[in-house]
Amino acid sequence: MTAPYPKQTCAAFGCKRWSRKYPPDWSFLCRDHWQTVPTKLRRLHNRLLRRAKKFNTPDLWAREARVWKRCIDAANREQFGI
Ligand SMILES: [Zn+2]
Repeated sequence: MTAPYPKQTCAAFGCKRWSRKYPPDWSFLCRDHWQTVPTKLRRLHNRLLRRAKKFNTPDLWAREARVWKRCIDAANREQFGI
């Protein structure tokens, strides 16, 4: 199946990788940048995402969004060494 979404570039600053797998209101991190996010944070996010999809409550989605922001921050911090 071809993905129905427009191209989206990686959420890490300055990264040119893109994907069509995600809806426009989502951001995504490419494989390389996701690898730079600390394991603890990745696990936390995966767990929250699973629960948010399962129960689909605004509260869980809000928490998922918050942790996702931290993942992006972590990837950027890793990239620029700050
Ligand atoms: Zn990237």
